[in-house]
Amino acid sequence: MMAAIAACSAAPEKDKIKITIYEKNDRLGKKLFITGKGRCNLTNHCDKDTLLRNTVSNPRFLYSAFDAFDSMSTEAFFESLGLKIKTERGNRVFPASDHSSDVISVLHTKIKRLGIEVKLDSEVKSIEIKDNKVSGLTLNGKSYDYDAVIIASGGLSYPLTGSTGDGFKWAKNTGHRVTVPEPALVPMVIKEECCRRLMGLSLKNVKIKLVAEKNPDTGLKKDKIIYEEFGEMLFTHFGVSGPLILSASSYIHKYLNGSLKLFIDLKPALDYNMLDERVLRDFEQFSNKQFQNSLDKLFPKKLIPEIVRCSGIMPEKRVNEITREERHRLVKLIKNFSLTVTGLRGFDEAIITKGGVSVKDINPKTMESKLITGLFFAGEVIDVDALTGGFNLQIAWSTGYAAGTYAAN
Ligand SMILES: Cc1cc2nc3c(=O)[nH]c(=O)nc-3n(C[C@H](O)[C@H](O)[C@H](O)COP(=O)(O)OP(=O)(O)OC[C@H]3O[C@@H](n4cnc5c(N)ncnc54)[C@H](O)[C@@H]3O)c2cc1C
Repeated sequence: MMAAIAACSAAPEKDKIKITIYEKNDRLGKKLFITGKGRCNLTNHCDKDTLLRNTVSNPRFLYSAFDAFDSMSTEAFFESLGLKIKTERGNRVFPASDHSSDVISVLHTKIKRLGIEVKLDSEVKSIEIKDNKVSGLTLNGKSYDYDAVIIASGGLSYPLTGSTGDGFKWAKNTGHRVTVPEPALVPMVIKEECCRRLMGLSLKNVKIKLVAEKNPDTGLKKDKIIYEEFGEMLFTHFGVSGPLILSASSYIHKYLNGSLKLFIDLKPALDYNMLDERVLRDFEQFSNKQFQNSLDKLFPKKLIPEIVRCSGIMPEKRVNEITREERHRLVKLIKNFSLTVTGLRGFDEAIITKGGVSVKDINPKTMESKLITGLFFAGEVIDVDALTGGFNLQIAWSTGYAAGTYAAN
């Protein structure tokens, strides 16, 4: 949608250009509709460096695209379409109405006003190439001629929204390199059974650390910290999820074939000694209670049986009988609650697709293929992905703007 609008606005002879959007769904923006839990976090109110910092894969490729169309441009663009916006915690920008449908609606109105043709229920089958130049596309067994084609078919995540990886196939068939697509911003699968028991428990203000353990098979000579951050996480029937875990998931793909540990610091505000003193104080207060009944002030109810189980201290043991060593073991456990990551959940649950059409085969300024003249790429189909916070949609707007602008010229 952004690419079509940009193309129309940039066309030197507007009356001579004909732009068509082919969409296989029965409406535009099915995925946009579900973004930001139905509220659409459409960008992040920040400078270009912050956009680049929050891009996980190939941020340098986006330098020109962000230069030409950054998050301020996105805000101005949507405001010019009549959308009222607001900025929330973490500089996340939303429509003031909290309805993603309003974002789709203003885009739709603009598309109509510009005379851009929209073909719904139209699944493109292939891209036509002649002499290394785009000549059109085919659908329903028919070919349609075009001077330029922009592939903005998304990735593989949430395939029910229409993103089924078609663009990856077209890119491959036309000679482009495609980095293996993998789910990202996605929950993690954990080996330990305790996650199932803790299902539904949300932990705010914890610190997680992901460590790839040394392993001769993976060539890792010593333990490597891959990710470390404070925030909120959640236990599920298969493992862990929540904002902190989703962000961490974007960094772990290449370590999944080795041994990957997730350490949760349940009391990050207290260092080891402070926490030990705190536990000691609680133990003094509850000295005649059983150990299993002495942790109410430290943890949510659901977590206590797991802490007790992992501590190795008998649940019925009187607190005043707990040894110094046992207490130290408990403090260590609280600072380093350890889980084993065995994998990631699938594309059905992934906010974004990592991988895609290699940035080596795309001109970063124009989004045009370096191999096929007149073929452009925009959005998630490209091998770029970012963290949550409006950054992925910003990538879609920026690359869509670049592709549209240059496809029209
Ligand atoms: C649950 C969820 C929440 C999200 N929330 C946010 C958020 O709040 N903020 C944010 O920045 N990002 C968010 N994202 C990520 C963001 O939605 C994507 O990065 C963005 O939509 C990518 O845009 P795109 O145009 O490249 O692809 P898509 O939005 O996937 O659009 C691709 C379109 O191409 C169509 N298509 C595919 N193949 C064909 C074909 N063969 N013929 C015709 N049409 C075809 C599809 O039907 C689809 O409509 C979220 C993602 C998910 C899954």
